[in-house]
Amino acid sequence: MAKTKKRPKKRSASIAIVRSDDCTGCEVCIVFCPVDCIDLKEPSDNPAERYVLIDKETCIGCTLCARYCPWESIDMVERKAYEEDAAFVFI
Ligand code: SF4
Ligand code: SF4
Repeated sequence: MAKTKKRPKKRSASIAIVRSDDCTGCEVCIVFCPVDCIDLKEPSDNPAERYVLIDKETCIGCTLCARYCPWESIDMVERKAYEEDAAFVFI
């Protein structure tokens, strides 16, 4: 059987970014994310310190998390601009 060529994965033009200071760790965004790329972080036993992080490589930019976040803690940003800014910060 002939092997099918795997096409490189297309990355979304936009990605979701969490403002961790505003995030309450309520997990609503986790429920809505269709690609399961949001993780809950619990740095201590204090529930007030919970927040989420988004895997930007996996995010498909669908905007669902930003639309349903009850605390409006998620911004949609242009991937290219975000990555250029990040590269500049970490040089
Ligand atoms: S829905 Fe908003 S407040 Fe809740 S965990 Fe996600 S980013 Fe944080
Ligand atoms: S934009 Fe969509 S894919 Fe990206 S983190 Fe939010 S819900 Fe998940």
